Amino acid sequence: MMAWRARLLCPTASVRSESHARVPDGVFPEQMTKGIYRLGYNAKSAYGAHSFAIRRPGGNVMLDGPRFTRAVVAQFENWGGLSDILLTHRDDVGDAGRYGAHFAARVWIHEADRAAAPSADCILTGREPVEIDADLTAIPIPGHTEGSVAYLYDQRCLFIGDSLAWNFETDDLEAFRQYCWWSWSEQRQSLNITQLPVRMGVCRTWWKQVCSLHRDARAARGAA
Ligand SMILES: [Zn+2]
Repeated sequence: MMAWRARLLCPTASVRSESHARVPDGVFPEQMTKGIYRLGYNAKSAYGAHSFAIRRPGGNVMLDGPRFTRAVVAQFENWGGLSDILLTHRDDVGDAGRYGAHFAARVWIHEADRAAAPSADCILTGREPVEIDADLTAIPIPGHTEGSVAYLYDQRCLFIGDSLAWNFETDDLEAFRQYCWWSWSEQRQSLNITQLPVRMGVCRTWWKQVCSLHRDARAARGAA
């Protein structure tokens, strides 16, 4: 039980970074649901966090930063480019700056976590949701870090970084106080804001799928 948690959450994941695992050819990007892909090539600097791609007509999007590799660059080039990189918080920046420079993409982060992504040019402020595009909304959720942000895509996928995880014992979402770096009371408040539980409900299946990836990846490596 604690094993997948340890792998899932950012600080302890650095102990067994996925960047140490050999990635076979053709594994990534892995389609998770319509238009959503897991990118792989997890960055050690991002504590082994997963990063994702949204392939969409309005411009392709990267969610958090993998390490900079030719394979990921080629994938976005094949899809027609990369318009926006959305960072959930300071821990999961990875090589977002290099991808941003390569593709001349906008890089989004909250001002409170901005120091982790000095090249970011789209700085979110305050706590009010910001509509990035008609199908893409940034929702500040301070707590895990002061600048944590969730991103809602198409009213069906919510990318939330480390602020919530799936508890496979209770089969429900859970936040972990021991991995809260800034303010637990603020994190609780953020996750209880009026609209977020509704959106969580919409995204429940999606989020369980994401957390299953973390659990399965750990099991596949035979970690205790
Ligand atoms: Zn984190």
